[in-house]
Amino acid sequence: MKVTLQHLTKKFPSRDKKDPRDVIAVNDFDFEIPDGKLIGLLGPSGCGKSTVLNMICGLLAPTSGRIFFDEEDVTDLPAEERGVGMVFQNYALYPHMTVLQNIMFPLGNFKGDKKLSKAEMRARAEEVARLVQIDQLLNRKPGEMSGGQQQRVAIARALVKMPRILLMDEPLSNLDARLRLQTREEIRRIQNETGITTIFVTHDQEEAMSISDMIVVMKDGIFQEMGRPQDVYDDPKNLFVAKFLGTPAINVFDAEVRDGMLRIGDEAVLSVPGVPDQPVWAGIRPEGFIPDPEGPFTASLDRVEVMGRDYSIISRHPACEAPVIRSIIDSTIKIDTEAETIRFRLKPRKVHIFSKITEDRLYFDEAAL
Ligand code: ATP
Repeated sequence: MKVTLQHLTKKFPSRDKKDPRDVIAVNDFDFEIPDGKLIGLLGPSGCGKSTVLNMICGLLAPTSGRIFFDEEDVTDLPAEERGVGMVFQNYALYPHMTVLQNIMFPLGNFKGDKKLSKAEMRARAEEVARLVQIDQLLNRKPGEMSGGQQQRVAIARALVKMPRILLMDEPLSNLDARLRLQTREEIRRIQNETGITTIFVTHDQEEAMSISDMIVVMKDGIFQEMGRPQDVYDDPKNLFVAKFLGTPAINVFDAEVRDGMLRIGDEAVLSVPGVPDQPVWAGIRPEGFIPDPEGPFTASLDRVEVMGRDYSIISRHPACEAPVIRSIIDSTIKIDTEAETIRFRLKPRKVHIFSKITEDRLYFDEAAL
């Protein structure tokens, strides 16, 4: 099922006496979520992610705009008639019920020609329990299970209704690091097997990038960019998206373009044909630095951290926004760790420059290099 958001906006009345302006939690969202994909909705805390989900499932009415499931306008349809499954951060299972009873519970609400017999409910519940691999635990109570297992029960309970769309709001937040990793792989597998259009909300960019077919990045209620994770990482539209994606984060420098050259401090570090002279933010991905004694960019060398396959070189430059520059280098390259300075060449595809006024990307012609 395709989901289309048309100029979707949600305003909440201000509760702040000093600032009576409405809070615009979601501002003119206008995009299409393709059928059968896993979409990661990504942004910092408070940017409006949960508000978007709550409007899609019908728990919140938009202030303006429309929501379509395929061609059907569902904006005014009550939540229970939308056929949406929800999974939240806190699993919200009934503690006194067994796993089987928890999964079967939503089926008891089916009315009219959708009403199921006890045996049909049980068969459906057992089938989804197998899908999420908790069929061995059906007689346990939630308190007798790990967090990861409880979250699988919550996913099974959402799936048992055979939803048209599955919405997940930070479903991994309550799990420890190992379980998070395992459960996110599970979510990917379950989504692949069911093919249900799934929207997965998280503030963790690594999590979103690792399992999503596409990510949507938002900031302060405003849509920033949508695309395949690697494409958005490689081709960010603005400084916010560039900084939000990637660990270690992109290194940002106070820089300038003059005569077609990107200048950081006194050095002309890269040719950027086609960009008019102006002050800019220069973002260099950690993997964009190549140590080279003849390289145009000089930094003071702090230390080298060995990470097995790669080195992480920690260096400093006065124009860098952060206290240190983090670069990731192939460990076959020899580095003089005793030296006071280190010089780099830069990979043009890993360097992005942004207007200081709008923070939008300024594109240069890499092909001409
Ligand atoms: P988090 O990652 O912290 O859950 P989020 O991205 O999901 O955040 P939302 O919960 O959607 O963000 O909130 C978006 C904005 O709307 C925030 O500024 C929040 O304070 C505000 N907001 C949310 N619900 C209400 C409400 N009922 N009344 C007033 N303001 C609200």
